[in-house]
Amino acid sequence: MAAKTPAQWKTLFENVPFHRENYYTGPLGPDYTPGGTCLRLWAPTAEAVTVTLYHKGDGGAVLGTEPLVRGAHGVWSVWLPGEQHGRYYTFAVTVDGITRETGDPYARAAGVNGVRSMIVDLARTAPSGWERDVRPNIPPAQRAVWEVSVRDFSQDAASGVRPAWRGKYMAFTQQGTTLHSDGIHPTCLNYLKRLGVKYVQLMPIFDFGSVDEAKPLLRQYNWGYDPTNFNVPEGSYSTDPTRGEVRIRECREMIAALHAAGIGVVMDVVYNHTYRTENPLNSTVPYYFFRQNPDGSFSNGSGCGNEFASERPMARKYMIDSLLYWAQEYHIDGFRFDLMGLYDVDTMNTARAALDALPGGRDILMYGEPWQGGGSQLHRYEANKANLAMLNERIGIFCDDTRDAIKGGCFNAREPGYAEGKPGSFWDVGGAVAAWCRSDRLPPHAPSQIVSYVSAHDNFTLWDKLLCVRYERPEFTASDPVALAQNRLAAGIYLTCMGIPFLQAGEEFARTKKGEDNSYASSALLNQLDWKRTAACQGLVEYYRGLIGLRNAFPRLSAPDPDTPRAVRFLPVEAPLVGWVLPAGPERAAWKALCVFYDPLAETRVVSLPEGRWKLLSDGTSSTLWQGESTVCTGEFSLPSCSAVIFGLL
Ligand code: CA
Repeated sequence: MAAKTPAQWKTLFENVPFHRENYYTGPLGPDYTPGGTCLRLWAPTAEAVTVTLYHKGDGGAVLGTEPLVRGAHGVWSVWLPGEQHGRYYTFAVTVDGITRETGDPYARAAGVNGVRSMIVDLARTAPSGWERDVRPNIPPAQRAVWEVSVRDFSQDAASGVRPAWRGKYMAFTQQGTTLHSDGIHPTCLNYLKRLGVKYVQLMPIFDFGSVDEAKPLLRQYNWGYDPTNFNVPEGSYSTDPTRGEVRIRECREMIAALHAAGIGVVMDVVYNHTYRTENPLNSTVPYYFFRQNPDGSFSNGSGCGNEFASERPMARKYMIDSLLYWAQEYHIDGFRFDLMGLYDVDTMNTARAALDALPGGRDILMYGEPWQGGGSQLHRYEANKANLAMLNERIGIFCDDTRDAIKGGCFNAREPGYAEGKPGSFWDVGGAVAAWCRSDRLPPHAPSQIVSYVSAHDNFTLWDKLLCVRYERPEFTASDPVALAQNRLAAGIYLTCMGIPFLQAGEEFARTKKGEDNSYASSALLNQLDWKRTAACQGLVEYYRGLIGLRNAFPRLSAPDPDTPRAVRFLPVEAPLVGWVLPAGPERAAWKALCVFYDPLAETRVVSLPEGRWKLLSDGTSSTLWQGESTVCTGEFSLPSCSAVIFGLL
């Protein structure tokens, strides 16, 4: 029999009888019990499957090889009697006469670099108290997401984290850290508790391929958007990547420590592609899990060489099984979908329903990038902006319209936005305030679906962007009062927009990457949070902290109800100023209404307040005025240059 061509595989996989025969809804992967472990692998096109067992995750003796037996629906299985915890294994899968050695796509643990899978008794990898760990209850009004990579969080020696834990999961568990251990300036978890963000979004923590776990990390750095094992935590963030159980325990300790601080964990998931074509999915069922061009070759909608075929039923099941696994076994509080536009709407909505069915699952956040990374072969119902109305209203999107309106486009460093005085941009800022629910820019949606932000790991940091707009040759580490005011204005806008506010870690202390707009493989030094800057930029940190708290005190800004944006009343102020009033909703709020003005001009402007007695909550520089006895204003008010000024109706 001649080997199938890629185009023939495509025809087979897109054929209804193939799925009728091979669709399987049961468990896959290792099923551990103390008395024995069952391994199940979905490989409907395989002619033979064997498993090889090892003592170690790398090297060492082979313990033996066992054949798997083919059962119904293309599932192969083998029963391994006795205690198997800690045993490593690989499969040899023969398809069309070609045998490929591979890890288990459903592996829950793995050896160094994720090459060999490991059988694990998850109960034995639970840190103490794990059974009491629960997802914190975070009301919508308190949602603010802070995005960081595990490595960047604590790599800096000034972080006060013990050397062995710097850049690792365990850094999140160290309590009371301060800058150079000075006892004064909080860092890491200690800092986050004060800042008031209620979610930490972690850049990839699944096992990725671009960092060699067997080598010292000193000269290696990568963000990790290159998955190798979707259900295994990354090894380089553990204190010992050679022992498969260590990374699981330490990843869980990190999550438990954040939960104990009242902070939820959003996991950045990248099912949209894999690092290599030789990966456990493609080695098990060649071509099935990846979208194909008409000639059968891999489509590249991710820009990384392949793209996940979420519309194929067993691929969809794989992705949803993985989400459920992280939610159940790691108590993950939310998922951020990289290149969400590469998934079909049905997959996203089915994933939402599956998470909703878990205890407390409706509160698990889901949002993603509503775009793709290249030309995709997904031609219908992509989970992108155009199809927003088809997505469940608890699936959100990163709003590039809001981002670009406030600080200017990402791709042209010099292009200004509203905060840098771009003429005519006030109209878009008004759209952003109402989460684009009153605009025809986006299809119908709930305001809570809009992730409002101005910086994330991709593209320039906000600070670098502001300087690139202002100067031909910016000095990124110099102090700059004008850029600082623009930074405060930008934050003052998106933190008063309806929706879910989101920020890149360090935006609140003018984080700089010295003008590098894509630092995914730059040095650890360039990427790491420079904790000294939290002291140098203390005023800006306090400004963010004040606004996050103010937002919590006025829950209507975070309302999920699509009617709420219509309650925003825009004031007749002179362009490019923007002014608006939002009455408090049914939920208890600290003020009867909010009144907000944005002024991007270099000079002061006088505006008229609506009728009533207005407490000055933030004057554009100090955003914690609302916490004390502050000025009460009526009539006219003089806005400082380049500022966001906020009032609350008494
Ligand atoms: Ca890895």
